[in-house]
Parts: sequence; C-alpha cells; structure tokens
Amino acid sequence: MTYRAPVDAIRLSLETVGGLARDMADGRAGGLTPDDLTGILCEAARFAEERLAPQNQRGDRQGCRLADGVVSTPDGWPGLYRAWAAAGWNGVDLPTLWGGMGLPARVAVATMEMWTSANMAFALGPVLTQGAADAIERHGSELLKLRYLPGLVSGDWTATMNLTEPQAGSDLGMLRTRAERGPDGAYRISGGKIFITYGAHDLTEQIVHLVLARLPDAPPGTKGISLFLVPKLLPDGSLNTVRCNGLEHKLGIHASPTCSMNFDGAAGWLVGEENRGLACMFTMMNKARLFTGLQGVAIAERAFQRALEFARTRRQGRAPGSAGQEPSVLIEHPDVRRNLAAMRALTAAGRALAHAAARAMDLAHVGTDAAERSDADERAAMLTPIVKAWCSDMGCDVTSIGIQIHGGMGYVEETGAAQHFRDARITPIYEGTNGIQAIDLVTRKVLRPNSVVAETLAAEYAQAGAAAEVAGLAEVGAPVIDAARALADATAWLRRNVNDHERLLGAATPYLKLFGLAAAAALLAETAVGARRRQDLGAGDPVLRRAIGDAAFFARTFAVAAPSLAAMLRGSVVPGVEDLAA
Ligand SMILES: Cc1cc2nc3c(=O)[nH]c(=O)nc-3n(C[C@H](O)[C@H](O)[C@H](O)COP(=O)(O)OP(=O)(O)OC[C@H]3O[C@@H](n4cnc5c(N)ncnc54)[C@H](O)[C@@H]3O)c2cc1C
Repeated sequence: MTYRAPVDAIRLSLETVGGLARDMADGRAGGLTPDDLTGILCEAARFAEERLAPQNQRGDRQGCRLADGVVSTPDGWPGLYRAWAAAGWNGVDLPTLWGGMGLPARVAVATMEMWTSANMAFALGPVLTQGAADAIERHGSELLKLRYLPGLVSGDWTATMNLTEPQAGSDLGMLRTRAERGPDGAYRISGGKIFITYGAHDLTEQIVHLVLARLPDAPPGTKGISLFLVPKLLPDGSLNTVRCNGLEHKLGIHASPTCSMNFDGAAGWLVGEENRGLACMFTMMNKARLFTGLQGVAIAERAFQRALEFARTRRQGRAPGSAGQEPSVLIEHPDVRRNLAAMRALTAAGRALAHAAARAMDLAHVGTDAAERSDADERAAMLTPIVKAWCSDMGCDVTSIGIQIHGGMGYVEETGAAQHFRDARITPIYEGTNGIQAIDLVTRKVLRPNSVVAETLAAEYAQAGAAAEVAGLAEVGAPVIDAARALADATAWLRRNVNDHERLLGAATPYLKLFGLAAAAALLAETAVGARRRQDLGAGDPVLRRAIGDAAFFARTFAVAAPSLAAMLRGSVVPGVEDLAA
C-alpha cells in the first residue's frame, strides 16, 4: 500500500474544529449520521488507497499527450475516472435536487483530501467540475441548470475555469477574449486562453467551459467582464468551435492536462448578468481556493507517510544510546524525528484550518438565523485566503522536508518523494498567487469597513489557548495565547497604517503567515482539548495521543515564532525599485 488514508485523524479534526459532531447531533449536517460518516470516509479511503494511489507515479511518468487536437490522459485513466464518478463521489456536497448527496462541504473536504493525497493530478479535475456546478447553481438560468447540472453533478461531464490569457494572469482586468451578442440569445466567444486545467481530455465526452470574456460595449477593467458557459458539445450534439491547441510541459502534475484553448466564435450562454462575471466566477474560485489549500494538506500527508516509511527502514550512523553493532534506522536519530514530527504537525495544522473554513462555509448556508449566516459568511471569507496560501506554502515546505529525509534518494525520481515536491509547487501559484491572497486578506477582508472579524478570531484563538491550559495542556496553551496576542497586535498595526498603502501591501504576506500560524495553533489546541476529553472518558485510540502530541509540537516549535513574525511585519520596509535594480 503506497498510501493509507488517515481516516481517524481526519474524523477527529472534522468532529472537533470542524464542529461536525455537534452539527450531526443537532440535525444540521444534511441528515448525516455518525454511521453514515464512517461509511463514507471508509469507502472513500478504499477507493483512494486501492485505485487512485497506484496510478499516481505511473501517471506522472506517462503524462498527457496531444495529437490532432485530441488530448489523451495516461493509460487507464478514462476507466478510473468512470469508476470514480459512477460511485457518486463527484456529488458529495452538491445539491440533491441535481443528483448530489447534499452533505456538508466538510465531508467533501474530507473525501477530497484522500483523492488528492492518493493522486493529485486526478483529483484536480473534479475540483473544477464541482466549483463550476456551484457557480451554475447559484448564478445560472433555469435552462442552464436543467441542461448542465445533472451531468456535472454526476461527474458524467467535467468543467473548466477559463480565466487566464497571456497578458492577463493576476490582473484579470486585462483580459481580451471577446463575446458578441447573437440573434438567438446565445453569444459568440472568440479569443485564446492559456493554462486551462483539463481543458481537453478523454475522460468524458462533454466538457463545460466557464469562460470570462468582454462584450464590445463593456467598461474597461474588471467591471467589464462577463461569464459564459461554453460547452464542447452543443445541445444538438454537434461540436462547438472550441479547441485545445497546446499542452504545457511542466514541473509537476504531469497527468493533469494544462491546455491552451482557442475559442473561434464558439456558442456560449451568459451566466449571471452582463459585466458581473467576476462576481459569479468568485463562487467557483472560493471553493477552488479552499481545495487548493487542501491540496497542500493532502500532498503533505502523502509526503509524510513516504518519509516515515523510509526513515523506518534505511540504516545510517549510530543514534544516541543505540545498542548492538548495527547502524541505526534513520528514525532513531533525533534530527530525523524532529523533521518527521514537523511534517506531521504542519499537516494536521493545515487540515484543521481547512476544516474550520469549510465549517464556516457550511454555516453560511445552514445557520439558524440571518445573523449566524452572515457571521459565518464573513469568517469563511476571512479564512479562505489563509487556507489557500498558508496550507499551500506548508505543502511545499513539508514535501521539501520529505525529500530531505530521503537524502539523495529523495532527489532522484525513484522513490516518489520528488514527485510530491514537484506536484505541490503549483499550489501557491494557481487560483490566485499567494501574494494576491495576502493582499486580498488585508485590504478586502481585515480592513473591510466596519469589520471586526479579525479581532474576534484573535480573541477566540486566545480563548482556545486558555481552554488548553484549563485542560492541563499548559505547554500548548501558553504559546497559543502569545500567538493570538501577536495577531491582535499586528491587526491593530494594520489599522494604524490603513492609509500607507506601500507599507500595508509590503506587510501583507507576513501578516497572512502570522494569521495562519496563530489560527492553526489555536485549532490544534482545540483538537487536543477534544482528544484529552475523550481520553478522560476512557478512550485509548492512538489518534488522540497523536493529536495532543501534534498540538504540543506545533505550539513549542512553530507558534512560538508568532511574536517575531509580528515584529518583522511592523519593522519591515520593502526596498524601492531603484535599490533592488542598482
Ligand atoms: C499548472 C497550471 C494550471 C492552471 N490552471 C488554470 C485554470 O484552470 N484556469 C485558469 O484560468 N488559469 C489557470 N492557471 C493560471 C494561473 O491561475 C496563473 O498562472 C496565476 O493566476 C498567476 O498568473 P500569472 O502566471 O500570469 O502570474 P503573474 O500575474 O504575472 O504574477 C507573477 C508574480 O507577480 C506577483 N504579482 C502579480 N500582480 C501583483 C500585484 N498586483 N501585487 C503584488 N504582486 C503581484 C504574483 O504574486 C506572482 O508572484 C494555471 C496555471 C498553471 C501553471
């Protein structure tokens, strides 16, 4: 077995910081019962372990091919995808009205973590399909919903997100793809897009493209962008004029086709209102950002498992106190154990962040009253860029440590450790680079007029530290309280500098890193308190001991850096262009 899904750890995190235990008991989890949850997690784990994981390395080696405009995924992938979709896995949190299971987003996050750990290049496609289904459900006309949601929710069809153009990456205001109003109510879309994930493939017949384009009379910039649904196959079954004309050669996720797309007067249908396309696309992007952060968690978990196995078998040197003549296995060396402990604690921290964000997303829909829903919506908005950026950076760090534990065998391709590092590296780039996430967090979320969510969260994180102290976990509690205080101080600093854009934007990334650190430390503390309670009631599962150990390691090793990060943020002055270019 190359991957063993950490079902117990995922479940503990879901039930504590994800709030799922309480929501299931209160009937606020789409009818989900604890037994259902067990069944879903175990079945998802089985598919991930037995079907997806064995194809990961093979897919990386073979990659995708483009011939005569037709893209082929690695051998066996169409059958693998059909088996996955036939089991209903695409619709975990999608509406029952359209054939989904209607479960909380938290359950989709849990299953998506397993698909992604097992095979990130495979799982990327469904991330986009599910996000597109959300966007169409929320903003599409009844006709579009009837036509496209059943196929997308079942996974019989896939979807794409067509934003990027050569001159328009982070700055979507510069996009040039054109849309002309047609006499038949449809629009004609023309232009080129690049870097489109699963833009063409052989997994399904139909591919539904969600495309950002500009009408002839649109205002300039982001206020003049509209969203269109452009199917590969038109309603009468004929081919639309959309074609893949190039496939990227890239560092990782080789089995995920990254396509250049040409739209040559292709028929498209408006989603939402004209010139309001970016707002509609954000429905898709927010889910995709959560899942991109989750990719960091998933790939970190896989890298940890591989490094642990290697460290248990490779022998080098003599560890302190080792008996006998034989060299020690790597795991006996304290420095290797420190690296392994860091990998595991960082992964658990990212998972807790993703579950907390998904919980806020769920409550934004099923909260008991308008006040609870609106509060949850603001929390989700605040946590989404943090999950996207903190967890994806973490995935890169953890997969890098994984290579380090393998030594030279990590740098060569044979062991598979290098693939995780290569695959993880895209996650801080796509779905809005991590720099853009930090700017979004500071300027649109924290400094949103009248918003005090950042302060509220910092206060809650301090309370989580205090609760850990009360539960007898003082070594966890004290650093968590200090980290929460550092976050509150840094937030106050942002407010004092609200008019100094140069300093504010220069401080955005350290602020996001600090927020992620303080939040993750507090959420791990909350998980540890939950674990301690279960132990006090007599439970002896190893996952409880691990959760307490991860929280303590994270607090002592990582959370203690929070006050320094806050000092760095306050003191940092970014050099001018002249200084750098001199
Ligand atoms: C494998 C892969 C798959 C992808 N899949 C898709 C997809 O399915 N659909 C799609 O539409 N796109 C996709 N993309 C594109 C991806 O979303 C973009 O690459 C990303 O948004 C960054 O744009 P860019 O590459 O043009 O970089 P740029 O925007 O040129 O950014 C370069 C650097 O400058 C920084 N920067 C840019 N603007 C600012 C600013 N205002 N302030 C501070 N810093 C700034 C960025 O943070 C970054 O570090 C994919 C890309 C890859 C490589």
